[in-house]
Amino acid sequence: MPGRRPARPASVGFVSLGCPKALVDSERILTQLRAEGYLISPTYRDADLVVVNTCGFIDAAVEESLQAIGEALSENGRVIVTGCLGARTEPDGERLVRRIHPSVLAVTGPHATEQVLEAVHTHLPRPHEPFADLIPPAGVKLTPAHYAYLKIAEGCNQSCTFCVIPSMRGKLVSRPIGEVVNEAERLVRQGVRELLIVSQDTGAYGVDLRYRTDFVNGRPVRTDVRNLAFELGRLGAWVRLHYVYPYPHIDDLVPMMEQGRILPYLDVPFQHAHPRILKLMRRPANAERNIDRIRAWRAACPALSIRSTFIAGFPGETEAEFEALLEFIRQAQLDRVGCFAYSPVQGAAANDLPEPIPEPVREERRARLMQVQAEVSRVRLAARIGSVEQVLIDQTTPEGGIGRTRFEAPEIDGVVRVNAGAALTVGQFYDVRLTGADEHDLSAVPSETETLVNGAGGSL
Ligand code: SF4
Repeated sequence: MPGRRPARPASVGFVSLGCPKALVDSERILTQLRAEGYLISPTYRDADLVVVNTCGFIDAAVEESLQAIGEALSENGRVIVTGCLGARTEPDGERLVRRIHPSVLAVTGPHATEQVLEAVHTHLPRPHEPFADLIPPAGVKLTPAHYAYLKIAEGCNQSCTFCVIPSMRGKLVSRPIGEVVNEAERLVRQGVRELLIVSQDTGAYGVDLRYRTDFVNGRPVRTDVRNLAFELGRLGAWVRLHYVYPYPHIDDLVPMMEQGRILPYLDVPFQHAHPRILKLMRRPANAERNIDRIRAWRAACPALSIRSTFIAGFPGETEAEFEALLEFIRQAQLDRVGCFAYSPVQGAAANDLPEPIPEPVREERRARLMQVQAEVSRVRLAARIGSVEQVLIDQTTPEGGIGRTRFEAPEIDGVVRVNAGAALTVGQFYDVRLTGADEHDLSAVPSETETLVNGAGGSL
């Protein structure tokens, strides 16, 4: 029923799927909807329509997104689809979502706040009275109050053969550094203690702007990742960098980590270690010297924690090439590793490569890689037992809380379970002594006497 005006305040339901970049898109849309006076409904029943922000990265995500759309249609009936899956088209040009769910009201691609808003306006007229004063200055956030994802750029200039993101999200578009730092300052003023910097290719930040000079609080600053890290490091919050490809200038970030300006944490998606496979993947940056790079980074910042992701069973990968990857995993001694079995995403160039690996072999290789890493991880975490570290509490428990140190990112890495004998406060820093570890998580008790490893924080 396009144009229907409900008697009560217009209310929008929202389902947000996918990666942190999609989450930031969701936050932008929700902030704008609230600014225009729409209510956000937590249930399908009370919503006048539902927006589903989808993910289209791998087949499992496509499946989950299509199911979420189906559920929203059957529970509510009026659905607008946005996000990566929305951009997927069939060979005849028709949108995949429309083919499977023809009754959706509208479909847009990712990073399309304006189009989503237009679609909402068409099907659910704006409320008479905007409640702009209800919007917190930092916008609507879907993460807990104490950490926030900060998206610094959209899109990607690379053409990795397993990935369709550039065709869905377009070329790299960086946000000017003044705007990003401004948003970060607002978030920190709102109580955010940890900023998680995300984009498709964080190391490439500013390339599209030719590193143009912008203004940060009246000071001229060039838009590049080094200046960004430096400026964010002034704000007094934890600053964690995600999706950093090992471009040469990344070496300059490591001293800032050693000085404590930004967290000693690098999320570098290496994806493979064998030169031939990396070439087939068309990965950016010269990846052949990665072991030497890792050694140099650790020499410059001994505390550095490195997270990476890999793909096992890429088309044409021989057993010997996979073994080379395993050897890299043993030598690199990475702190946190994720591994996907290669998944032929529709539209990816890698699907046309010869000698695809059968699915059971891909899965078996993924499991073998994770087994090797589990041992690496177990030893590395055990070596931390006895040290005193600062944790940021994400969740309270009757006996203390669950949190993370500088070395663990939320949702993707392990956690620290703190047994303090009483509930701790979410969003607060505490000093703890690590007392135990398995291959993923750590346990800890309050530290009474030791000095902090890093920076300021509450003490028990
Ligand atoms: S760098 Fe490669 S994997 Fe990452 S978004 Fe760009 S094309 Fe995809």
